[in-house]
Parts: sequence; structure tokens; C-alpha cells
Amino acid sequence: MPDQDQAKRLALSVLIPVYNEEESLAELRSELIPVLEAIGCTFEIVFVDDGSRDDSPNILREFFEKDERIRVIRFVRNFGQQMATTAGLRHCRGKAVIIIDADLQSPPHHIPELLAKLNEGFDIVYGVREESTGPLYRRMGTVAANYLIGRLTGVYYPDAASGFLALNDDLVRSVNRFNQKTRYLSTLFAWLSYGRHAAVPVSRRPRKYGQSHYQFWQLVRITVNLITNWSTRPLHFALWAGFGVAGAAGLALLRWLYLLWTEGWRGGEMTLYTTAILVVGAVNLFALAIMSAYISRIYGEVRENPPYVIGDIMERD
Ligand code: UDP
Ligand code: MG
Repeated sequence: MPDQDQAKRLALSVLIPVYNEEESLAELRSELIPVLEAIGCTFEIVFVDDGSRDDSPNILREFFEKDERIRVIRFVRNFGQQMATTAGLRHCRGKAVIIIDADLQSPPHHIPELLAKLNEGFDIVYGVREESTGPLYRRMGTVAANYLIGRLTGVYYPDAASGFLALNDDLVRSVNRFNQKTRYLSTLFAWLSYGRHAAVPVSRRPRKYGQSHYQFWQLVRITVNLITNWSTRPLHFALWAGFGVAGAAGLALLRWLYLLWTEGWRGGEMTLYTTAILVVGAVNLFALAIMSAYISRIYGEVRENPPYVIGDIMERD
């Protein structure tokens, strides 16, 4: 892989997904570059234009032509922030990678703090918002979604994570080995950085230009996709529901036997029907549960995830 070429290694890559951000880009660049120059290491800025239909591609081309530290990847159409970031990660050459939004909501002056923390030996450092911004439904939604994600996938993800973060190249390399077609990087980062994550408080500004690309239903859809993408636990629902209905069928059966005993055949007739319906329901649910078990196996196979990820090998040759 040419971009892993040792000679081309840089100390830092800044990865910026861009979708229709023409108003922000010039300001972003003039805020970012002095911060990076002050750090005093070699760096590159990798813009991934996610199929913008405004003037962003032209602005980025100009940036590229004027500054050799700037690289631009352009998608032919909009594939979404996850894919833009995925592509960017595959092209970053830095020992450390900072991911930051293009909309100026995350102030670049926090980058040295994120890097300092990363250098203490973490795989990922999250910029977490000091104070909450954004609409209430979104903040509550984030907490609820993170809770669900935590329960269903077993990964840690800070509630106030802002999408402004620092990764080391070990984590980037691991992430790049995952080939899922749909990807949710935040969970992948969290899952792979098991026990090696830290957080640094960062401020977050309100969006200055344009508006967020994520409205309520998109966020709901993302959460559902994320959970089904990452976890097959929802498939177990049929099994548990099957046990519940089978239990109810058992109780109804006992009641029917009791009525049969005390009141004779006619007294228990309705209860017998109820019992029959519950038994059929339970059989259906168990049949679904069996299919779910196979579907989750198929799902596991087609995802093309590496079955394990090695962090380090200590050996003598
Ligand atoms: N973005 C992208 N592709 C998209 C949507 C968004 O590359 O389809 C970029 C966007 O330009 C910004 C970042 O992802 O740099 C975060 O988007 P946004 O600010 O809309 O999200 P929010 O801050 O509301 O989470
Ligand atoms: Mg934003």
C-alpha cells in the first residue's frame, strides 16, 4: 500500500468529512493551519468531499493547489459521513489522526490537548462536550441511543462525544481491516479501543452556517441501523417471546384441566381454545427463533469482519 510507505509517514493527519460546507471551509482552514503549525510536527489535512453539490469541491481544489500539505478525496456522489470518514482513514498517513467536522462546531484549538492525551498511550481520545448544545430531543436521544447501543453491543461510548477525536495509527490500521458495507465508525472505534480510551473536555460552538445534516428521523434510522448492523441480539426477541407465550399456554392448560375437573367438558371449552391458540403462538415464535439463529449465523459470515484483531505480537525471530 503506497500510503503506508514508511518514507511518507507523517506525524499527524487531520481528517475532515465535507458535505455542502462552502461557507465554513475558508474559516476552517485559517483556524486550523496556525494550530497545526504551532504544534511543530509534520502534518497533512485530508478533506473528503462527500459529493457536495455546492461550491465545496472548487474551494477544496483551490486549497489543494495552494498548499501541498492538503489532500482532497472527492466522492462522485453523497455516500454519507461514515463512508467519507472511512475513505479518509484509508488514506491518512499520520501516526496520529484527528477527525474533525467541517462546520466549525468543534474548535481546532483543542487539537494539541487531544494529541497530548493520545501520547499518554491511548488508542482513542474523545473530545467530549463541556456543555450540551443542540435541541433537547437530540440530547435526550443521544443518551437513549448510547444506552441502547451499550446494552445491545457491549461497547463503551461517551454520551457527550462530539465526533471530534484523536486516534493512533494502531487503531486506524485495525479499523481499516473491517470491510462491512455499512459501517458505524463510532462503535467500531469504541469496540476496538477496549480499555484504551480517554476523554478530553472540548467546547462546541453552535453551527455558524447551514444546518445539521441529521434531523430527528435520520437519527432514529441511524440508531436502528447501527444496532442491527452491530448486534444480532434483537433477533433473540422471538426466543424470549416464545418462552413467554409458552408459559402462558402452560397456565391456560392448567386452568382448563381444573375447569374440566370441577365443571366438566362444557365449563372448560373456551379455555381449551385459548390454550390451543397460545400453543400455536408459541410454536410460531420458536420456529422464528430457530430461523433467527440461522440468520444471525449468516449475518456473521457475510459481514466480512476479521474474526479477531491482533493488537501486538511479542516474539523473537
Ligand atoms: N457530512 C458528510 N456527509 C454527510 C453528512 C455530513 O460528510 O452526508 C459531514 C459534514 O459536512 C460535517 C460532518 O459530517 O463536516 C458532521 O455533519 P453535521 O455537522 O451535519 O452533523 P452534526 O454536527 O449535526 O452531528
Ligand atoms: Mg455539525
